[in-house]
Amino acid sequence: MPRVIVDGCEVEVVPGSNVLAALRKLGLDVPALCYLPGCTPNTACMACVVRLLDPDRIVPSCATRAEDGMRVASETAEIRELRRTALELMLSDHAGARYGAPGPDGRRPVLCDCGAGEVCRLRKYAELYGADPERYRGAQREIAPGGRYHHPEISYEPARCILCGLCVQLARQAGEPLGLTFVGRGFDVLVDVPFNESLEQALRTAGRRCAGACPTGALKLRRAPL
Ligand code: SF4
Repeated sequence: MPRVIVDGCEVEVVPGSNVLAALRKLGLDVPALCYLPGCTPNTACMACVVRLLDPDRIVPSCATRAEDGMRVASETAEIRELRRTALELMLSDHAGARYGAPGPDGRRPVLCDCGAGEVCRLRKYAELYGADPERYRGAQREIAPGGRYHHPEISYEPARCILCGLCVQLARQAGEPLGLTFVGRGFDVLVDVPFNESLEQALRTAGRRCAGACPTGALKLRRAPL
């Protein structure tokens, strides 16, 4: 079994594991927003970076295979700053993301109107890492007009999507005939339904799974009617 040394602590992982698995086995809560076991790492968020020592380089831990004897720096000031920057870049165009008033401890909560609450891992890690939603603030994405993304079980709001691609992969794995795809270029790239079809057509069976994997409130389960 490969043994990896993370911040001076040795840990064994199953052969074929990634470095992220070693971090998690040591109990480190790393913001790997675009990674899900069973999906191909697409390194879209870069929030799980670590520094490999020898050879010395910064890598995404989700897409780096754990090798025997590998030495890794994870919870250093440098790496936490890089992760904070990655989170701030994701928040920079995120519709509705902003600071709230400081609490009794002086910390400012990150607020968003998506309604996902604690389910939103972007917000959770933004707070854990002290990410400033306004540091790189540019144009925020616009909330889509209602109707285009109707689905009986889930709701979808592209303006809160961080383009992690998990829903695209999960829909493909589920054998959805239509599924989801990336469309557009540059700032206007979004995850959308091909051929202007409805979300209900795109996700006939995989909707709940996609919503469960979404790291933000972009795809989420509809609330049961009261
Ligand atoms: Fe990822 Fe959610 Fe966007 Fe899909 S909708 S790409 S799961 S953030």
